[in-house]
Amino acid sequence: MKAYPWHVPALERLLAQRGRLPHALLVHGPRGIGKTDFARALAASVLCESPARSLACGQCASCHWFSQGNHPDFREVVPEASEDDEEEAEPTGAKAEKAKSLFIKIEQVRALADFIALSTHRAGYRVLVMRPAESLHPNAANALLKTLEEPPPSTLIVMVSERPARVLPTIRSRCSALALGLPPAKEALAWLRSEGIGAPEIALATAGGAPLLARELADPSETEFRTRTLGELSRPGGANAVAYAAGVDRARLERFLYWMQTWVFDVASRKAGAPVRHHPDLASAIESRAKAASVEGLFELERELAEARRLVAHPLNPRLLVEHLLLTYNRAIKP
Ligand SMILES: [Zn+2]
Repeated sequence: MKAYPWHVPALERLLAQRGRLPHALLVHGPRGIGKTDFARALAASVLCESPARSLACGQCASCHWFSQGNHPDFREVVPEASEDDEEEAEPTGAKAEKAKSLFIKIEQVRALADFIALSTHRAGYRVLVMRPAESLHPNAANALLKTLEEPPPSTLIVMVSERPARVLPTIRSRCSALALGLPPAKEALAWLRSEGIGAPEIALATAGGAPLLARELADPSETEFRTRTLGELSRPGGANAVAYAAGVDRARLERFLYWMQTWVFDVASRKAGAPVRHHPDLASAIESRAKAASVEGLFELERELAEARRLVAHPLNPRLLVEHLLLTYNRAIKP
């Protein structure tokens, strides 16, 4: 488990106090910077039997087990629905979609009892990663409180969150917060180049400076969808809501919202005289949309988009939602 270069300083600072680590950490920061990988790299380093400059050596038995995903002193707990996302093995369609929980359930916490209580296999640390921390069901959180308050020796619990304000206060107050920020652009660009990403500057801008999200968005199918979506939002006569919405299914909905939100952010920024952040390659189209837009309309649109993002995980009709948002957009841009 090799750490991303932008995480190394924070990891080294933490691991310099090996043996005096906090019992529980809440690692938080923006999406797409690799918070989960940070937590895993931290775990691998803590479990490593011969750390090199505090970081995991990648060679010892412990590192080997960790990379194979079967280290006996490591657990990672996620909601059932996220387990599915990660595997994505076969196209399961809508199969059992409703049954998959978006929460970390109390049963999952109870199942950790032995892991927490018994002595560790390798006579070192045990590390538990839970993510996203805001998905802990209140009952599950209650079942975890005692462990968070009085963990057995050599236990490290790492909570990961993109939205720390939504983490239950009982959990938040028992963790040391560790904020990870966006890496310096130079470092992020160097990494994107090393990953073979063409036009890394555009990719990084579209991702708001988050390198892992930038790599994801640079995928050809993603750039094609971006071009199509932003082309629709640039249309001088307004978006063709019905025709466009017919082509957005549930799988694309979240990304549609992302593109629309970043676009509207840029239009509102220009309206307020601030620079374009996400789509500098389309600055002139943004400029002309900003001229035509009404401030009130943009406010309403931003509110609707935030609401739509909250609903995205729940069953809804993607086509109708997209249509509604585009019509709201057309009203905002052509008052
Ligand atoms: Zn090692």
